[in-house]
Amino acid sequence: MRERKVKERIRDFKEVPLGFSEEEAIREAERCLQCKEPRCVLGCPVGIDIPAFIRMIKERRFSDALSKILEKNHLPAICGRVCPQEEQCEKMCVLAKRGEPIAIGALERFAAEVGGKRDAKKAERNGKKVAVVGSGPAGLTAAATLAEKGYDVTIYEALHKAGGVLVYGIPEFRLPKSIVEEEIEHVKKLGVEIITDVLVGKTITLEELQRKYDAVFIATGAGLPRFLNVPGEDLIGIYSANEFLIRINLMKANLFPEYDTPILIGKKTVVIGGGNVAMDSARVALRMGADVTVIYRRTEKEMPARIEEIKRAKEEGVKFIFLATPVKFVGENGRLKGVECIRMRLGEIEKDGRRKPVPVENSEFFVESDTAVVAIGQSPNPLIGRITGIKTGDRGEIVVDEEGRTSIEGVYAAGDITTGAATVIEAMGAAKRAAYTIDRDLHA
Ligand code: FAD
Ligand code: SF4
Ligand code: SF4
Repeated sequence: MRERKVKERIRDFKEVPLGFSEEEAIREAERCLQCKEPRCVLGCPVGIDIPAFIRMIKERRFSDALSKILEKNHLPAICGRVCPQEEQCEKMCVLAKRGEPIAIGALERFAAEVGGKRDAKKAERNGKKVAVVGSGPAGLTAAATLAEKGYDVTIYEALHKAGGVLVYGIPEFRLPKSIVEEEIEHVKKLGVEIITDVLVGKTITLEELQRKYDAVFIATGAGLPRFLNVPGEDLIGIYSANEFLIRINLMKANLFPEYDTPILIGKKTVVIGGGNVAMDSARVALRMGADVTVIYRRTEKEMPARIEEIKRAKEEGVKFIFLATPVKFVGENGRLKGVECIRMRLGEIEKDGRRKPVPVENSEFFVESDTAVVAIGQSPNPLIGRITGIKTGDRGEIVVDEEGRTSIEGVYAAGDITTGAATVIEAMGAAKRAAYTIDRDLHA
């Protein structure tokens, strides 16, 4: 897919990949073998009929292609952009063996862009009401699925804007907010009501929702930042990735003073971590004019971030220090001056299949920096778990059965709140399954 040139893109927040032209999309669709038993579909957590929509693109039936995708996925313009396709549908494509899988994500994005107006199939109401807590991909998917089945659905969102990580986490240059807004408008057209600025557990209790609704679906995500717990982590200039990205993506701190929220970014920024959140933080800091270095405790091969985002970060000038981790943040007058790090080596293979990083004795070194962003992971939001007695696991995640039922009758959950930080499409797939469970239980 064509991309904006590096020089152009590093000083603004506009989208980097440009999408397929009609000609490019058709050429790509023509490469699809239309497999009788398509393996690609097995790699899609929501089971889109991939060969069918690709065939429709080939036949220039763009609106049909979009309708085919919408049968299974309510947020195609988003998934086409941010799904880790190389680990999902495209990894399973038979052509992947030759290193040339069909660009399924790019074709999905194309269909969403050119497929035209979507029908808002407002189903006949069935007289039952469901409350959804959280408006990220899991909440939106469950809400849309239930609304299509005739339920009156109300989403309660803690922030002033709906969309969850899609609006406050993933930056504009990867996922334009106008695209997220459009997708949310489609969900609203199905009859879903979204009420913002309501923190369930504080503004309104879970018990109140249970009294008012026939079922409650919890999709509050994993927004609790993890820290390194090393000395000096409270110095001025150190952010959690969540705070850093929220200030810019949601509160528009990059446009201060036009917007009220400020952000302090010095000349040299270090970002600690190796996932998508670390790449996003690094590329945001770069666009704010900083010289950016990512510090990651394993090697590039083990980085959990999407390969194409690592490639883009490098092209844009982000530097990397691999096999190292901070042991201390060093300050002067309360402000960050630099990070003391230690070299690591890779030891035995751990449960998750990756090799354990082990510190190398007496290998400390200093990285000068006036801003640091800690992007080493997020845990499930703990509020509802803490105050309701709902069953939670070791990491604070809400425990659900295979069909999305929690330990409280009539209360369901899916997405990052049940799995810990995962992916958009996994959250959507689980939310869809939980919505079907709600429908079955309410009609039993
Ligand atoms: P969320 O998107 O976190 O939504 C939860 C919502 O619930 C939020 O809006 C929150 O405000 C609200 N909420 C929380 N508590 C309450 C409460 N008590 N009352 C009311 N509302 C509440 N995944 C990918 O597939 N590809 C990527 O490229 C990718 N990049 C990422 C980049 C970043 C910076 C981050 C942080 C994550 C990224 N992810 C990516 C992960 C992906 O975004 C998440 O897995 C996904 O958003 C989870 O969806 P969710 O609906 O479960 O939760
Ligand atoms: Fe692939 Fe994601 Fe689209 Fe499924 S939703 S086909 S995994 S890009
Ligand atoms: Fe087409 Fe690949 Fe799916 Fe086969 S596996 S139908 S080639 S996308």
